[in-house]
Amino acid sequence: MTALPAHAEVVVIGGGILGCSTAYHLARDHKADVIVLEQNQLTSGSTWHAAGLVGQLRSSASITQVLKYSVDLYRRLEEETGLATGWKMTGCLRLATNAERMTEYRRLATTARSFGMEMHLLSPSEAQAMWPLMEVSDLVGASFLPTDGQANPSDITQSLAKGARMHGARFFEGVRVTGFRSKDGRIEAVETNQGVIACDKIVNCGGQWARQIGALAGVSVPLQPMKHLYIVTEPIPGLARDVPTVRDPDRRTYYKEEVGGLVMGGYEPNPHAWTTGDIPDDFAFRLFDDDFDHFEPHMINAIARIPALGDVGVRRMIHAPESFTADGNFILGRAPELENFFVGAGFNAFGIASGGGAGWVLAAWVQRGEAPMDLWSVDIRRFSDLHKDREWLKDRVVEATAKHYAIAFPHEEMQSGRPHLVSPLYERLKAHGAVFGSKLGWERANGFARDGEPARDVYAMGRQNWFAGVGREHVAAREAVVVFDQSSFAKFELVGRDAERALSLLCAGDVTKPPGRLTYTQMLNSRGGIECDLTVARLADDRYYLVTGTGFRTHDSAWIRDHIAPGANARLVDVTEQRATLALMGPRARVLLSRVSQDDWGNAAFPFARARQMTIAGRSALALRITYVGELGWELHCDNADAGQIFDALVAAGADLGLTLAGYRAIESLRLEKAYRAWGADITPNDNPYEAGLGFAVSLRGDRAFLGREALFAARNSPLKKRLASFVCDDEDVVLIGRETILRDGEPVGYLTSGGYGYTLRRPIGLGYLRRADGVSEAWAEGGRYELVVAEQRRSCRISFAPLYDPLGERVRS
Ligand SMILES: Cc1cc2nc3c(=O)[nH]c(=O)nc-3n(C[C@H](O)[C@H](O)[C@H](O)COP(=O)(O)OP(=O)(O)OC[C@H]3O[C@@H](n4cnc5c(N)ncnc54)[C@H](O)[C@@H]3O)c2cc1C
Repeated sequence: MTALPAHAEVVVIGGGILGCSTAYHLARDHKADVIVLEQNQLTSGSTWHAAGLVGQLRSSASITQVLKYSVDLYRRLEEETGLATGWKMTGCLRLATNAERMTEYRRLATTARSFGMEMHLLSPSEAQAMWPLMEVSDLVGASFLPTDGQANPSDITQSLAKGARMHGARFFEGVRVTGFRSKDGRIEAVETNQGVIACDKIVNCGGQWARQIGALAGVSVPLQPMKHLYIVTEPIPGLARDVPTVRDPDRRTYYKEEVGGLVMGGYEPNPHAWTTGDIPDDFAFRLFDDDFDHFEPHMINAIARIPALGDVGVRRMIHAPESFTADGNFILGRAPELENFFVGAGFNAFGIASGGGAGWVLAAWVQRGEAPMDLWSVDIRRFSDLHKDREWLKDRVVEATAKHYAIAFPHEEMQSGRPHLVSPLYERLKAHGAVFGSKLGWERANGFARDGEPARDVYAMGRQNWFAGVGREHVAAREAVVVFDQSSFAKFELVGRDAERALSLLCAGDVTKPPGRLTYTQMLNSRGGIECDLTVARLADDRYYLVTGTGFRTHDSAWIRDHIAPGANARLVDVTEQRATLALMGPRARVLLSRVSQDDWGNAAFPFARARQMTIAGRSALALRITYVGELGWELHCDNADAGQIFDALVAAGADLGLTLAGYRAIESLRLEKAYRAWGADITPNDNPYEAGLGFAVSLRGDRAFLGREALFAARNSPLKKRLASFVCDDEDVVLIGRETILRDGEPVGYLTSGGYGYTLRRPIGLGYLRRADGVSEAWAEGGRYELVVAEQRRSCRISFAPLYDPLGERVRS
C-alpha cells in the first residue's frame, strides 16, 4: 500500500458515494489537495447494497436543485471517466389509491413546476399503459416525473472515485480513522491505524459510522441506523427493461427493474431500528440475515399490485442498515463544535439520489467556509442538545421512518419523545385547552380549544379542525389583546467591552445605538444572503440581548461565535432556558399592562423599538416593544420563576378587555397579513435584504465594515432580479401551503415561500419572490395579471409590495 502522506489540505473520511463525490468535487472544482481514507474498501458501507432508485423532487427548492445536479452528473460522468454509472432515465411513477393521495400529487406537481421540473398527472389507464404488468383497478390516478431514474450505486461511486483521482485526489483503503488531535477549536491532525496525518480540514462522510467518528472529535452527528429490506426477483416474463421506477406509497412499496426482474422494497409501519451503540468497524459488504416474516406484508401488497410477481422466485433479499435522521433530511455542513470539521451523512435511503449533488455543495462549503446556497433544511446546525439523546433520537427516527410513505398532511406534528422541553407556563396553558406542537424539542401552544372542541389536531388536505379557533385568536389580537407564550425563543446575551464592535461586524443594521434601543437586523453571508434574522436590544455599553427563532438556536449562535474575531472581548451566552417570554399583543395591550404595572407604558415614555426593565405584578421583566403580528404590544422577558405570576396577573386583569390566549398558528396568519418575513422560508441565505424588501433594515452609512457589505453595494447598483411580494387570492376557499407557482399574464415568474390564511382580510395569503432576468421593476410587476397555481388549478390573485394590513404600521406605533 502507498504510504500515507504526512499532511493533506482536506481529509475525507469514508469511501462511500458521499466521500467519493465530495473528493471528486473538491479536486475538480477547487483544486484541493484531498485524500480519502476508507477503513475497508470503497463502497463497502451502505453504498454497495442500495437499490439505486434516483428521485429528485423535495419540498425545498435548493435540495431539489442538489438532486437535479446528481442526475445531470450521473448522466455525463462516464464521458469524463470512462466508467459507466448505470444511469437510466426511466422516469418515476407514483400511484394513488385515494383522493387525499391524489391531492398530495397535485400539490407535488405544482411544486415540481415551481422548481422548474415537469411532473404529469395520469389516469389509472395511462399509468397502466406505461407499466402493463401492473394491476390498476384500485387506483384513482398517478403522477409521473419523467427525468427521475435509476443507477448502479457501486458503479457511480467507482466512477466518481476515478474522476477524483484524475483531478489529483488520493485514496487510501484499509485505513481507519481512530482519533483526532485538536487545538483551540480546530482539528490539527487525524490519527489512523496507519499513522497520523496533519490536515487543514476534515470531512466526515462516514455513513452510519459518522456518529461515532464525530464523537471522537466531540461533534454531534445525530443519526440512527435502521434496518431496511428489499428483494431482487428472478426475471419476469414480459417486463420491459425500460419501465419507470414505481412508488406505491399506499401499499408502502417501491419497484425498480433489474436484469429483467424487479427490485422490490418498502417502508413498513413498524420499522426496526438497529443499534444505538457503535457500528462494528468490520461491517463491510455485510447484510443482516433474511427476514421474510417482517417482509411478508410488502410481499402481499406487491403481488396484489403486480400479480406476475407471484410466479417468479426471489433471487436474494437485501436486509441492510442505513442511517436515518429525526426529520428525514440528510446532514451537511460545518459542525458548530469545531472550526474545520465538516459532515456529510445521514442519507435516509436517498444517498444515491443525493450523493452527486450533496458532494458538490459540501465541497464548496468546505472550501469557502460558508454554504454556497440555502441548505438550511439539511444543515447540521438545525439540531440541538436534544438530538444527542440516543433513545429520544431512536424513537423519533422510528416514527419518521414509519411515516415515510404516509400522506404528508400540511401542519402535521410528530408525537414521539414529547414533551421534552416545556416553558414554565406549560401546565397553565394546558389547563386552558392548549393544543401543542413541538419545535426543536419545545412544546409550544399552536392554539387553544374551547367549549368542547377537541384539544387535538385532525389533519386534512383542506381546512383543518383548528381553522375556526385560530381565527378567534387572530381577531382577538387585532381587536382586543392576546398573550402568546414564546418562551421557546432562542435568547442570547453578548457581553464584553468588544460586544458592540463584534456585533457591528456581523449586522447589516446599525446596532451602535445607545442602551435601551432595539434593532431589527439581519446577519449576512459574503454573498449578501440572509443568514440570521433577529432582534438585538442594547442593554448596556457592553451588553446586548439577542432574540431569534426557536429553531435557529444552534444555527444563529454558531454563526455569531464563528464570526467573533479571535481575542475579542465578546462572549455569547445562551440564556434560552433561563428566561420565559410572554408576548402581549393587541390594541388593548397598554391598558392591560397599566392595570398590573405602575410603570409608564405610554408612547412617550416607552416608544416603539425600545427596551426597558419594567415591573409587572411585582416581578421584573425586560420589556421589548416590538411585534411579529403587527399590533401595539410588548415581549416580556423574565426569569422563569416569575413567568407564572406575570401570566396569572395578566389573565386576571384582562378578562373584561377580551384577553385571549393565542398560539403559533395565529402568529402565522397575523404575520402573513403584515408580510413579516420568516427566516428559512421567505428569507434565506439565497436572498439579500433588497430582494427581500428589507432594505430599510440595512445601514450602509459611513464606512462601517460588516460581512456582506460589498455584496450589498453591488446588489444596490444593479436591477433586482427577484423581489418578495404579497399575494392575496380572490377566492376565500383556496388553501395555500407554500410552493404554489406564481403566474404573471399566464407565465411562471416564481413561487410562494409561505402560504396561509389571513382572518382579518378573510382571504388566503402568500409571500413569494417575483423573478425576472431583466429585473423586477415595480411598473413591470404591477402591470401584470396574476394567478397562483394551487394543486394544479389556476386561482386569480392580486399582488402587493406593501403589507396587506396596516401598510403604514400605524397600529404598531400607536
Ligand atoms: C437496503 C437499502 C436500499 C437503499 N436504496 C436506495 C435507493 O434506492 N436510492 C438511494 O438513493 N439510496 C438508497 N439507499 C441509501 C444509500 O445506500 C445510502 O444513503 C448511501 O449509500 C450512503 O452513502 P455514504 O457514503 O453516506 O455511506 P457509506 O456508503 O456507508 O460510506 C461510509 C464509509 O465510511 C467508512 N468509514 C466508517 N468509519 C470509518 C473510519 N473510522 N475510518 C475510515 N473509514 C470509515 C465506511 O467503511 C464506509 O465505507 C439504500 C440503503 C439501503 C440500506
